Formats: sequence, C-alpha cells, structure tokens
Amino acid sequence: MSAREERADLHLHTTASDGRLSPAELVRLLAERGVSVAAVTDHDSTEGLDEAEREAARHPGLRLITGIEISADSPLDEGGDLHLLGYFFDRADAALQERLRAFREEREQRGERMVERLAHIGKPVEWERVLAIADGASVGRPHVAQAMVERGYIASVRGAFDGYLNDGGTAFVARPHISLEDAVQMIKHAGGAAVLAHPVYAKDYERLLPRLAEIGVVGFEAHYANFDAETRQRLLSLADRLGLLPCGGSDYHAFGAPGEQLPGSAGPPLSVVAELERLASAGRRG
Ligand code: AMP
Ligand code: ZN
Ligand code: FE
Ligand code: FE
Repeated sequence: MSAREERADLHLHTTASDGRLSPAELVRLLAERGVSVAAVTDHDSTEGLDEAEREAARHPGLRLITGIEISADSPLDEGGDLHLLGYFFDRADAALQERLRAFREEREQRGERMVERLAHIGKPVEWERVLAIADGASVGRPHVAQAMVERGYIASVRGAFDGYLNDGGTAFVARPHISLEDAVQMIKHAGGAAVLAHPVYAKDYERLLPRLAEIGVVGFEAHYANFDAETRQRLLSLADRLGLLPCGGSDYHAFGAPGEQLPGSAGPPLSVVAELERLASAGRRG
C-alpha cells in the first residue's frame, strides 16, 4: 500500500453548535489523531473559534482554518435547505457577525413561538428549559424536541418531529431565511471562500451544482465521510468538469452513534486547501 496522501478535515462541529465536544476537546482529538489541517465549522456561529485557536496554539502540528456552516435557502424553486461552508474569512468582520447575531436571535424568537404553539395544543414545555438544552448554541427544533421528550410527551426526538415539529406539524414555525446568494456574500465580504456542504443532501443537486460558480461558490464537498466511494467519484468528476474545488471532511459531531466517522476520516488533499486560500485572498484583492 502506498503512503496515504495527507488530507485536511474541513467540516467539524463543537458545542458552539450541535457538536458534543467543546472546541478545546475537539482540537485535542484532532491533534491526537494526527490531523494536520482542519476547520471548525459550527452552524451559524464562530463562537467556538477563539477557544479552538487557543488550544491549537499548543499543538504545533495542527493548522486551524477559520470556518463556519451557514444554513441557507436553495436558489431552486422548492429547493429547500442548503448548508454553505465558509473558510479563510475574517471572523471579526462586523457585518458578518451582525448577520449571524440577528439570525440566532430570530431563531430564538422562532423557538419561543414553537413553545407557544405546544402550550396551545396542551403540550407545554418551559422556554427556559429549551434554552438550557441549547446551552449557548443557536436554538433549533432538536432542542424543543428534547424538552418534549423530557416532559414525557413523546419517547424520542424523532417522535417529536412526527406531527409536531416537522414542516407542517402542529408546532412547526419556519426558521428565518437567508438566501444562498446572501450567505455567499456574507462570507465573501468577510474575505472568505464559500463552499457547498454535502451536495447530495440538497434537492435536485445536479441542477444546483452548475449554478454555483455564477453565485460565487468556489467548491463543494466530494470527500465527505458519509458518501460512498461511487458518490465521491461522481462528485469528483463533476467538480472537475464544473471547475469547482472538491472539498470535504468528516462532519464530526461526537454524537457517539455506532459507526460515526471520526475527525480526519475524510477530506481533501492539502493542495485543495491551498487553492481555497488562494481564491479567498484573490477575492480580497479585487
Ligand atoms: P431547525 O434548523 O431548527 O429547523 O432544525 C433542523 C434540524 O432538526 C436538522 O438539522 C436535524 O438535525 C433535525 N431534524 C429535522 N427533521 C428531523 C426528523 N424528522 N427527526 C429528527 N431530527 C430531525
Ligand atoms: Zn450539525
Ligand atoms: Fe450540514
Ligand atoms: Fe455540518
């Protein structure tokens, strides 16, 4: 067997969103596993990055890249939700942080409205409890669902979605919207490069991918831990044909589920990271 080419893991979560490890714990695990380049990409937040960088400074073998995963709406009709990854941006950018703060605040208001709806249908949960479950992360339906489970209304988080929190459910309220174009501009204005996450999970992705370049997206995930070899190969060919960078990572959350893919288990070669960095800095110059 030939020596494995060195790979980056550009998709990782911490307790700053729905991951179970703190940023410092995640960085220690990355170092232990010998990952040399990584990006922490929490949902709609960069709040974990200070802690992650402080810990990374103690592991000279590990280079940490600024990252985020923003939820956005597909530009296709009925295209649903997309996840957009951002890299190499300035996380002190005031416009970016203001948008993220507003988005998280709107998500809180939306969470409170779902809690009100639950009270209306005789399944009250405490808003304070939902906030405590979210524990500083952006409030989402899984947190409301967990509060319902704790109150004994339903056996599992999944069950709380069926008929209650799923789209069209009795307690459902839509999350605040960000268009894909807006999300890309947020990242670009902050000097970064934008990449579509796990494209196969997007509706009609074969129609979506050819439109990414015109919106300013520079790549999409192909080296994604949960994609099988055939899917990765197909996405690599598509990236090549469309002139987009094949990115990726483990999307590790430390959920502890059987078979969970660990940090460093997937990701692009370091040449792709260099190209991402070059594109981000080219964007800053002009
Ligand atoms: P939100 O962003 O608040 O609308 O919540 C979306 C999250 O809810 C997704 O990332 C999933 O983790 C979770 N989710 C969505 N649908 C289901 C479902 N049917 N069962 C369990 N979790 C779900
Ligand atoms: Zn997540
Ligand atoms: Fe995602
Ligand atoms: Fe993710």
